[in-house]
Formats: sequence, structure tokens, C-alpha cells
Amino acid sequence: MIVERDFSTTLLDWFGSNGRKNLPWHDSRDPYVIWISEIMLQQTQVATVIPYFRRFLERFPDIHTLAHASIDEVLHLWTGLGYYARGRNLHRAAQAIITRHGGHFPQTFEAVCALPGIGRSTAGAILAFAYGQQHPILDGNVKRVLARYHGVSGWPGIHAVEQRLWALAETHVPKVHVEEYTQAIMDLGAMVCRRTRPTCGSCPLNSNCVAFKQGNPSDYPGGAPRRALPVKQVQMILLRDRQGQVLLQQRPPVGIWGGLWGFPECDPAKDARSWCRTTYGLEIALDTPWPPLRHRFTHFRLDITPIPARLMRSNTKAMENTKTVWYNVHQPDVRGLATPVKQLLQQLRNLS
Ligand code: SF4
Repeated sequence: MIVERDFSTTLLDWFGSNGRKNLPWHDSRDPYVIWISEIMLQQTQVATVIPYFRRFLERFPDIHTLAHASIDEVLHLWTGLGYYARGRNLHRAAQAIITRHGGHFPQTFEAVCALPGIGRSTAGAILAFAYGQQHPILDGNVKRVLARYHGVSGWPGIHAVEQRLWALAETHVPKVHVEEYTQAIMDLGAMVCRRTRPTCGSCPLNSNCVAFKQGNPSDYPGGAPRRALPVKQVQMILLRDRQGQVLLQQRPPVGIWGGLWGFPECDPAKDARSWCRTTYGLEIALDTPWPPLRHRFTHFRLDITPIPARLMRSNTKAMENTKTVWYNVHQPDVRGLATPVKQLLQQLRNLS
């Protein structure tokens, strides 16, 4: 096996002339700024993240502003970025930093890992970039580089495979220039050792890469066992009152789309009119359903049937215990919306 110094020095040399250095978070050593960027970059492409990152930092320039904001405002700025638990955890973690650390981002690995939504790899990246501490990282890009370079087969979701990759990641972290090395291995995975069509011919590691020598980089890392994703069905009731306002309800704070606002959702096996009467005390008239939409989550697909409806009679008392609002589609306020809800609101706006 190639010795540790060769791997990291080769990468550092490559990074000097090839790495990405002009992304909006690259100028900063502020752990808050780095933390926000690292969380946004989880499972999300750089190009998608940049405008969200800028808007988020503009509104929440520091830990205190984020901790004291409402969750609606945080999720509003997260709308469209997906994986909303990240936004909820950022908010909770900012509050925890105020109470546990006096508003200062912690500097020890254990304290950072104890914050909501921060795992081992993210903690390592933040501490490396902000303080130059020597920690390995193992995000999706790094797993791919290491699995190919060392010929580690098997799906990284298997504990033993992941442990092997962590052990390899640790051996490569240099004692100096940790920030550059951390950025370099991320960049190599994103730019050269890509998931599909890696450009091995221009890769600085190709002379010692097991997968390249075997001629099968795309066999690494091993894939998750294939299984058909379940499909769930839901009816979304696009209920408008006489002023054209739309009924939205806030979802519970945890789970899919937790804390976001959406249309009332009715099980397709139920009659939407009687369900609205029982749930909200509302008498409604249903119009022709719109064509269904399919939304993909990691673990399932959601088939949504949007049903436009008109409010005929209401019983305000019955709605007192629900987290609902009548939403003006022409004057949107600050609240988090899931992507299909945002799309359907846009369609309603176009109709009126
Ligand atoms: S040689 Fe190819 S497979 Fe190996 S690390 Fe480089 S890009 Fe990845």
C-alpha cells in the first residue's frame, strides 16, 4: 500500500493548481459560516447550495440571529433545498450553542458532535476548516475516492465497510495543511473521481489506484441492496375560501416535511368532504382533481392527487385546535413550504 505521506502530498499538490477556491464559504474561518455550508452541502450539489447559502447568511449572519429566529423563518429560507431536518437541526443546534457554550461555537470534537444534526464527518470538516484540527472526514465523495483507491468492495452502508473506510481516512490525514487536504479530497471526489464517468486519466492518484488498475472504478463503492421503493398515496385538498385564500396546515415538528406548511392531506380511501367536516368542521365542495404529481423521497415515493375545493360553510370553533392558516397566494408570508406545495400554490396563483 502507498504510504500515508504520498497520498496526502499528491492530493495537496493537485489541489494547489486544480482545487476549488472561490466558493462563497472559502474565504471564511468562522466556524458558524463553515457549519452552515457543510450542512447545506450534505446530499446537495454546490451549484444548488450557493444561492441558499447567501440568502441564509444574509438573514442569519451569526449564531445569535439564527437561535432567536422563528422556525418558520428558518424553514422558509430552506424551502426547496430538501432534507428539512437539516434546517430544524441547525436552529436547535444554534439554541444549544447559546445555552451550552455561551454563544461560541465549540472547539472540541465531542462538543461539536453532541450538537443536533452534526455527525462525525461534518464535525471533522468544521474543525479542520475552522481551526486546522487533524480529523478525517468521510462524506459521500470521500467514501467513493477511498473505496476505489484502496479497492474496498461492499456497500458503505454496511458497518464493517464503513469502519474500514474510516480507518483508511484516518491514515491519510496529514499533520499540516489539514484544511487544504480536506478540501482537496472533497474536490477530487466531486470533480475527478465522480460517481459516473470518473476522469481517471487526469487523476493525480491513478498510479496507485486499485480500481483504476483493475479497470472497474464504477464497481466501487458497492451499491445498496436493490429493493423497490414503496409508493404512498395522498390527496391534498386545495381548499379556497370566498376571498380566494387557501387553507394550509403546519405539519408536526418531526418526520418528513416536519414543521413545514402544506395542504390538508386526506387518505385516498376516505371521502374528502366528510373528512374535512370531521377534521376541521368545514363544509366543502370538491372540484375535478388535478393530474397527480409524484414526489421522490429517499425511502419512498409519494403520489399526490391535488383536489381543488371551495369552502361552503365554516365552523371557526372546530379549527381553534388546529395549526392552520388561510394563506394569501398573492401575498406570500414567511413560512416553510415543501416543494410540491410550493408548485401547487404557484398553479393556484396562476389561476386567479
Ligand atoms: S484513478 Fe480514477 S478511480 Fe482512482 S481515485 Fe482517481 S478518479 Fe478515482
